[in-house]
Amino acid sequence: MVNNYAKKKITIMGLGLHGGGSASARFFAEEGAEVTVTDLRNKEILDKSIKDLSDLNIKFVLGHHDEQDFFNADIVIKNPAVKPDSPFLKAALKGGALIETDISTFLHLNSRPIIAVTGSKGKSTTVSAIYHVLKSIYPETNLGGNITVSPLTFYSEENNKSDAPVILELSSWQLADLANKNLLHPTVSAITNIMHDHQDRYHSMDNYAADKAIIFEAQKESAPLLLNADSEYTEYFAEKADCPIFFFSSKPINKDVEGAFIDNNGCGWWQENNETTKILNSENTVTGSHNKINLLTAAAILFKFGISPEQIRIKLSEFPGIAHRLEFVREKNSIKWYNDSAATIPEAAAAAVESFSEPMHLITGGTDKELDFSPLIESIKKNRPASINLLEGTGTEKIITLLQEKNLDFNGPYNSLDKAIEKIAIKAKSNQIVLLSPGCASFGMFKNEFDRGNKFKALVNNL
Ligand code: ADP
Repeated sequence: MVNNYAKKKITIMGLGLHGGGSASARFFAEEGAEVTVTDLRNKEILDKSIKDLSDLNIKFVLGHHDEQDFFNADIVIKNPAVKPDSPFLKAALKGGALIETDISTFLHLNSRPIIAVTGSKGKSTTVSAIYHVLKSIYPETNLGGNITVSPLTFYSEENNKSDAPVILELSSWQLADLANKNLLHPTVSAITNIMHDHQDRYHSMDNYAADKAIIFEAQKESAPLLLNADSEYTEYFAEKADCPIFFFSSKPINKDVEGAFIDNNGCGWWQENNETTKILNSENTVTGSHNKINLLTAAAILFKFGISPEQIRIKLSEFPGIAHRLEFVREKNSIKWYNDSAATIPEAAAAAVESFSEPMHLITGGTDKELDFSPLIESIKKNRPASINLLEGTGTEKIITLLQEKNLDFNGPYNSLDKAIEKIAIKAKSNQIVLLSPGCASFGMFKNEFDRGNKFKALVNNL
């Protein structure tokens, strides 16, 4: 790819609302390129992203795509949500354009060390925990990717001279767009786990896992890859990878296995060459056994990156967690309210339900992504919440069928979050908790899962 973008015709396909499209448009416009931003959504919906670019000379084509913007482009910057078989991408290729993304553009230019993390769940928590530790050692560390920060927002020639690491959270779609490009060479990489997700877009779990494997496709032979010993597809990844592989597990591992594990007292250890090193304290600020494994993954990555075990332990035990992931919102009348809106798949909601021993009022349900809800039903059966409160949606219809089969009572489905919260606030008693953990996507009632979590927090804070 050319690194001098002045006067080049660049088409940004998909402006979106998460910042990736805007960051690309700004980056190329500031480099002197002729930038066209095109999105199938209209001006009203994209209002905020458009206003953010109002100081730049950019052509907008909104509400539709114009084939000429693709056929005549030198480079098309594809949003990860655009399907690879789009006829407009075909037109771009026919016209001789390169298809790139904000991440690939960044990787073409970047010379800093990269830590890369993918997986179905736990990515944002793991990368944020790594960032929390590295920031205290290398203040210029950056975090970007799927965590709604495009790496192009922190790329500059000046920043590129720093040897502070760049941490990238990568979704399967972002990885798919990097396939065969030989651009991603992480110093350390990890796959947190593989769970059923995005089956509305992938034809099979194998295709989904194959995209995840792109994280180590161009990894250097000496750079370590960390895999979850307790997860499906680990063997598949291990067979495909040419780099040194280490494992992490929520339980003690055999002496001949190299990697990280949690012992019976809740401490995390690194085991290699017949030596064990303590890398995680038993007491940490964040809640939930799934977060313990996220912290262990972060500790293992940091250890392989060369950070001292003591620094890892101290800093990770202070990591406060991140918004929308088992986030403590408020205690009122001795009732604690938690926001886990980022739980967009049934397994994630199941992990949240299993994280508390107090009686729980669970708010769950929403839009389906062609997923199997039995893991959530199993955890409900085991943990018996004080009440199950459903939010309307196509996923909820599947949940209701399963709850009825098991003779489990529920309230709703409610067509708004306010109604569910209002009802729960009346019946909840002291020392109980209320948990929003939908296990579903949020389309319909909310803009996205963050909008859903923010609305929940606002309603709870107004109680
Ligand atoms: P991601 O960025 O991969 O979506 P997050 O760290 O944002 O993951 O967590 C999203 C949700 O997934 C959390 O709210 C929690 O319910 C669930 N979760 C997080 N980590 C795990 C894990 N290791 N195993 C199962 N569920 C998890």
